[in-house]
Amino acid sequence: MFKKVIYLSLSISILQIGISEAQQLPIDQQYRATPTKINNLVHTKLDVRFDYTNQFLNGKEWITLQPHFYPTDSLRLDAKGMDIKQVSLVNGQQLVPLKYSYDNNSLLIKLDRNYVAKEQYTVYLDYTAKPNLLKVQGSAAINDAKGLYFINPDERAPNKPRQIWTQGETEASSAWFPTIDRPNQKTTAEISMTVLDNYVSLSNGVLSKQQKNNDGTRTDTWTMDLPHAPYLFMMAVGDFKIYQDKYNNIPVDYYLEPKYAPYAKDIFGKTPAMMDFYSKTLGVPYPWNKYAQIVCRDYVSGAMENTSATLHGEHVQKTKRELLDDNQEGTIAHELFHQWFGDLVTAESWSNLTMNESFATFGEVIWREHDGGKDRGDKSRFEKLQSYLKSTKNGKSPTLARYYYHDKEDMFDNISYAKGSLILYALKEQMGDEAFYQSLKKYLTDNSFKTGEPQQLRLAMEEVTGKDWAPYFNQWYYQGGHPILKITTRNGENSVILNVAQIQDSTVQTFQLPLAVDIYTKNGKIRQTFQLNRRNAQFMIPLPAAVEFIDIDPEKTLVGQIQIDKSDADYLYQYEHAPSFANRVGAIAYASKNPTNTISQQILTKALADTDADLAATAIQGLDLSNPAVRKSAEKTILALAEKSEASVIRASAIQKLAQTKDKKYKSLILNAVTDKSYMVIASSIMAIKSAYPDQLQQSLNRIDPDATEYLKALITELSKS
Ligand SMILES: [Zn+2]
Repeated sequence: MFKKVIYLSLSISILQIGISEAQQLPIDQQYRATPTKINNLVHTKLDVRFDYTNQFLNGKEWITLQPHFYPTDSLRLDAKGMDIKQVSLVNGQQLVPLKYSYDNNSLLIKLDRNYVAKEQYTVYLDYTAKPNLLKVQGSAAINDAKGLYFINPDERAPNKPRQIWTQGETEASSAWFPTIDRPNQKTTAEISMTVLDNYVSLSNGVLSKQQKNNDGTRTDTWTMDLPHAPYLFMMAVGDFKIYQDKYNNIPVDYYLEPKYAPYAKDIFGKTPAMMDFYSKTLGVPYPWNKYAQIVCRDYVSGAMENTSATLHGEHVQKTKRELLDDNQEGTIAHELFHQWFGDLVTAESWSNLTMNESFATFGEVIWREHDGGKDRGDKSRFEKLQSYLKSTKNGKSPTLARYYYHDKEDMFDNISYAKGSLILYALKEQMGDEAFYQSLKKYLTDNSFKTGEPQQLRLAMEEVTGKDWAPYFNQWYYQGGHPILKITTRNGENSVILNVAQIQDSTVQTFQLPLAVDIYTKNGKIRQTFQLNRRNAQFMIPLPAAVEFIDIDPEKTLVGQIQIDKSDADYLYQYEHAPSFANRVGAIAYASKNPTNTISQQILTKALADTDADLAATAIQGLDLSNPAVRKSAEKTILALAEKSEASVIRASAIQKLAQTKDKKYKSLILNAVTDKSYMVIASSIMAIKSAYPDQLQQSLNRIDPDATEYLKALITELSKS
């Protein structure tokens, strides 16, 4: 009787699902609810073996769960593209087979009885994961969703290591172990991996046991005794060398291909300092008992913040020589900050991805500021603002917290990353550093090992500051777009009048925000802050002396655009007297576009000494040395930069510029640059030689050292043609 009733109600519910599906709204208009918790994960124990020939994983799993609130007699697990061989209830020493149905995507298990809230039960599964036979779509950030990847499994590709690694985000962990693959689930874990004895393995938590087997394999057991989300589970297996670093008593390990092992410290060496900075800034110690970073081949995204075990793509793997031209410090900082924002407190759903990605991106900015100084942090924010603005039109953009989207992978965009990080930074500026970081500490502490959405952050901020932050969150988290401020000024008698129009698209909200303005006069600088709350506003600023320059949003914290007419003299003034990073870029960009103008030439000549190497290199490119006046004022400096600058980007730029003169006196300098230690400078010099001294090209290519010849072989082949 009981069974029959169940059967009947089940068929009714299937019928209802059928009806509601037929009436469904278009996908973009469907509300994306946070996944309902019927059963909660408690503990996941895995025993896995790898079949390199078929690229399969043979797994045994003991998964402990409990109903969330309402009693239930069934369990739904995500399990993608697997062969399910056995599903049983663990009853003491006994395995009691359970009925189940499987549709290649989810596994619906009928339990032996009703379980009530907090009543734990353990299900045993025997399965084979076949990731290569899976057909799924990934996101732009994670361009595939197989979950488990075999790299060069048959070792047919020469010079390529044989590796296995996993990628869980967004919901691909369930392609290698059955689980409730949702970000609002958390589980402790124990993963035993049987691997060839000459390989090393990595997973979350600590390596608690290693046992040699008598068939040339070894079983490594990794224990994660703090709960974390299934998408943060990871495994990696291969021939890696481990460099052991330390932060306080926490092991900090860098796993690299043996060839790159000597550069482990050069690549990752700042990690302990970052852990220290973040721990102290947040007032929340690094949450896990180790931190490992591993670099894997053919990775499908940039990097992934798996709990206590970040995985990087191979672009991070660089020799000391490559590091002269570029490094991946931003990514290293980003993934580390995720260990708090994402791993300790996890976005409740993909709609709330901002709670992970905006913070991790913000983490990059504050590390740059701390490590490289304010200007370096400002540069990082400037770059993020530009990357966000590029994806917008007339101030239109989707909301940060987004409950309607086409695909969860769409959430990994410039809004969740760049714009969100700037929204956090502006919030920090408005409430002050101390209030901001105390609020983050409260948010992290209150929600540790749980999930978060923007409202929890807002409530933490309100409790710390005693202020209502709902207007800020409503404007920046729950409505989209950004302000475009068109500003005109008029000089009155002993005053200046500022007209501020919000000209973003009429469908975009009207913003309420503070706008700071610096007025420069011969008597010094005056800062005024106005509150904007209408489409058109006018402000009068009384002044003791005539205006020399007006700098709008001097700290450049506005998440938006400013349009104001400027003369060439204004650009020179801002470069010299209001030299924020954004103002220097603005001046150099203007001057580079108008190179015949003498004030432009003054700006660019001054910018040759810019403290930012990229800006100095850009200024070099903007100068036209065929103009005798420019040549007179800038040539010597450019020559000195080509010869002596520490920054390879500046030397490379200067060599290119000098080559354009085709002046014989630079010939030996340009020809000798092929022996530079920087690949970037060598590349620049051979391109310069090809255009200025083509008859010297072959001879110059022969002078390049073998290592650089190998590194630059694509460019060399290209230049050798024709
Ligand atoms: Zn991230």
